[in-house]
Amino acid sequence: MKPAAFDYVAPESLEQAVQALVSANGDGKVMAGGQSLMPLINFRMTRPAIVVDILRIPRLASIELIGDSVAIGALTRHIDLEFSHLIAEKLPVMAAAMPHVAHLAIRNRGTIGGSLAHADPAAELPMLAMLYGAAIKAQGPNGRRSIPAEEFFVSALTNCLEPEEIVFEIDFPVPQGHKGWAFEEVARRFGDFALASIALTFALRHGRIADARVAAMGIADTPLRLREAEGVLNGADGGAETAARFAEVVRASVSPADDIHVSGKYRKHLIGALAEKALAAAWYRAAGGAP
Ligand SMILES: Cc1cc2nc3c(=O)[nH]c(=O)nc-3n(C[C@H](O)[C@H](O)[C@H](O)COP(=O)(O)OP(=O)(O)OC[C@H]3O[C@@H](n4cnc5c(N)ncnc54)[C@H](O)[C@@H]3O)c2cc1C
Repeated sequence: MKPAAFDYVAPESLEQAVQALVSANGDGKVMAGGQSLMPLINFRMTRPAIVVDILRIPRLASIELIGDSVAIGALTRHIDLEFSHLIAEKLPVMAAAMPHVAHLAIRNRGTIGGSLAHADPAAELPMLAMLYGAAIKAQGPNGRRSIPAEEFFVSALTNCLEPEEIVFEIDFPVPQGHKGWAFEEVARRFGDFALASIALTFALRHGRIADARVAAMGIADTPLRLREAEGVLNGADGGAETAARFAEVVRASVSPADDIHVSGKYRKHLIGALAEKALAAAWYRAAGGAP
């Protein structure tokens, strides 16, 4: 199928891009890597009057440590996150997750801003934004605002941005002293969207888990932060008893629906199994057993 006709602009500043969206009266679409938008346009699942290509806007593709946060420009590509030393050191769960995003050609074009804005419930970066408590910064006609990840994802493929707002940066607070972390997912084939995935990170205090953060995806129409499951980990060790209880609470926290891929029951079982596996890996790592 061919796309319906649309106008195309490639502004060279964020202000011009916002202005182009304003003049489209809600009928404009931002394009970053185009990896999700172009298929949607080609299938006529979206029919924007104007496509605002933001790739020419300078200074939106950077990864910087600013204070205790890693600030990532919206046009930073998956591939840059995958191979960044700063990401590997400060946000290791992100580094571990990136090779699971689609295939190399897609990671070479897809951007973090596009992935978050697209809000696919089975995408890795939205889950990581929840895990790390990221702040998503957007610019619109009325200025800039910072949106906590937990407010950003509204439902499947829907975020809380106004039609004229553009994400320009995402700030990821670096968890201090976190030595235990893990990322686990199951996809039918490597590179496919995950059936389910879990990510966790924690510190150790007197040999016990502290400051645990747990997020999951593929099990609801948005990524979820699993606070009750974090409560099971805090103050516990990472042994078999904790792992069993952790998996039980993770399963009880989610109610996945059936879909064309698998049943909700299967996903519920899967996320618990991934939780146990992730805790074992993170605990081993925290004890110095793995890089
Ligand atoms: C075959 C295939 C497999 C894939 N598998 C995975 C996978 O396993 N995991 C995964 O996470 N992703 C996967 N993806 C999606 C891929 O990672 C996309 O690149 C990504 O989700 C979108 O990034 P993009 O920069 O290409 O965004 P685009 O396609 O350019 O845009 C996507 C959406 O976000 C909006 N948008 C883009 N940038 C901004 C911005 N800065 N501010 C506001 N709105 C913006 C656009 O208007 C559009 O609605 C897959 C894609 C394909 C085609």
